[in-house]
Amino acid sequence: MEQGKHGVRRPAKAWLHTRWVSLVPALILIFFVASAAMSPRTTQAVDEPADPITPPAQLTALSPSPDAVGNATDPVTLTPAAFIAGGLAATNDEVQPSATPLPLPTMTSTPAVPTATAIPPTPTSTPSGPTPTPDQDAAGNAQPVDGTIRVPVLMYHYIRINPVASDRLGYGLSVPPTDFAAQMAWLVQNGYHAVFPSELTAAITRAAPLPTKPIVLTFDDGYRDFYDKAWPVLKQYGLKSSSAVITSFADKGDRGDLSYMNWNMIGELDRSGLVEIASHTLSHPDLTRLSPGQRWAELSQSKDLIERHLGHPCVAFVYPSGRYDGATLADAKRAGYQIAFTTNDGKVRAPQDSGTILQLPRVRVAGGTTIAGFAKNLG
Ligand SMILES: [Zn+2]
Repeated sequence: MEQGKHGVRRPAKAWLHTRWVSLVPALILIFFVASAAMSPRTTQAVDEPADPITPPAQLTALSPSPDAVGNATDPVTLTPAAFIAGGLAATNDEVQPSATPLPLPTMTSTPAVPTATAIPPTPTSTPSGPTPTPDQDAAGNAQPVDGTIRVPVLMYHYIRINPVASDRLGYGLSVPPTDFAAQMAWLVQNGYHAVFPSELTAAITRAAPLPTKPIVLTFDDGYRDFYDKAWPVLKQYGLKSSSAVITSFADKGDRGDLSYMNWNMIGELDRSGLVEIASHTLSHPDLTRLSPGQRWAELSQSKDLIERHLGHPCVAFVYPSGRYDGATLADAKRAGYQIAFTTNDGKVRAPQDSGTILQLPRVRVAGGTTIAGFAKNLG
C-alpha cells in the first residue's frame, strides 16, 4: 500500500506539474494581450515612420479657413477658386514645414496636385517623375529655348475684395483672396516654380540655372493684406515671393495704421526664407518729378532703412507707379540695386535682359481676372 500510496501520489504531483508548465505560455500570452490592450494608442503612432512628403499629403487633408480664403460667398470667385482654396487653406499654419523653402524643383512639382481629382489636368501640366521634360535637364533646371528663358514676373497690389464697388481703379488693383488662392493653386498644378528676384538676377547676370517654368511673384506697396491674405497661401504652397515696401508706410504700420504691414511683420516675412523684401521708396513719389537730391534720398535711404531693419542687403527695387527715367536708372544703379521692376508689360528674358535689368517688365494681375485669363497671360 505504501508503495501504492506513493505510486498514486507521484503521478498526481507529476500531473499537476505538467499542467502548470503547460499553463505558463498561456499565462504569458494572456499577460501580453492584456497589457497591449490597456496601453495608450499614442505609443503606436509614434512608431510610425514620418511621411517623407508631408507637404502634399497634408495639403489635401487640411480644411478651409475662412480667414485665409476670404469671402467665400463672393459670387465672382465661388466656383473653382472656392473649391481649390478649400484644399489649401490651413487652419493651423504650424502644421506644415512650409516656412522652409522647398529646396528642389522636384519637391514642388511632384506633390502638387492637391485638387487633381476635382480639376482635370490641363494639357500644359508638367508630368512628374524621373523623366525630364523637353524644357528641363536631368537636374530639373530650365533649358533655354533658342537661348532664352522667359520668366513672367507677376505684379499684384491688394489681395482683398475691393471695398468700394464704384472704385474702378481699386477694383483693378484688388485680387480677391479666393481668386488669388486659385491662381497659386493653378501655378503649382501646372508646374511653375516661383523664384526670388535675387535668383532671377543670378540667372540674368551669370546664367545661373533656374527651375523649370520659373516665375516671380511681386506684391507692391506693403499692404497689410499681403500679410493677412496672400502670405498664408504662399506659405502653404511653399511659394517664394517678393514684397516691395514703402518705408514710411511701414512706419505708419508701426504707429497702428492697419492698412500697411509694420516692421515686425516685414521682418517675420524676411526671416521665413520665403519672402524677399524689395524697396518701393520712402514715400511712393513719381521719381521723375523730384529734385536730384529728393530722388536720391528716396532710392538710397529706403534701401538703407530696409537693410537696417532686416540686417542684410536689399537688392531689388520697384518704381512707384512704374515711373522712371534715365536719371532714375542711374541713381538706382548708384544706390546698389541689382534688379528693378517697372509696370511695363512683358516677360523677362534670361539672360538677354542683362542690359535692362534695372527696368524689367512685369505681367499685371488685375482684379476680376479669370483663371483662363490668368493662364493666358502666362502663355
Ligand atoms: Zn506702388
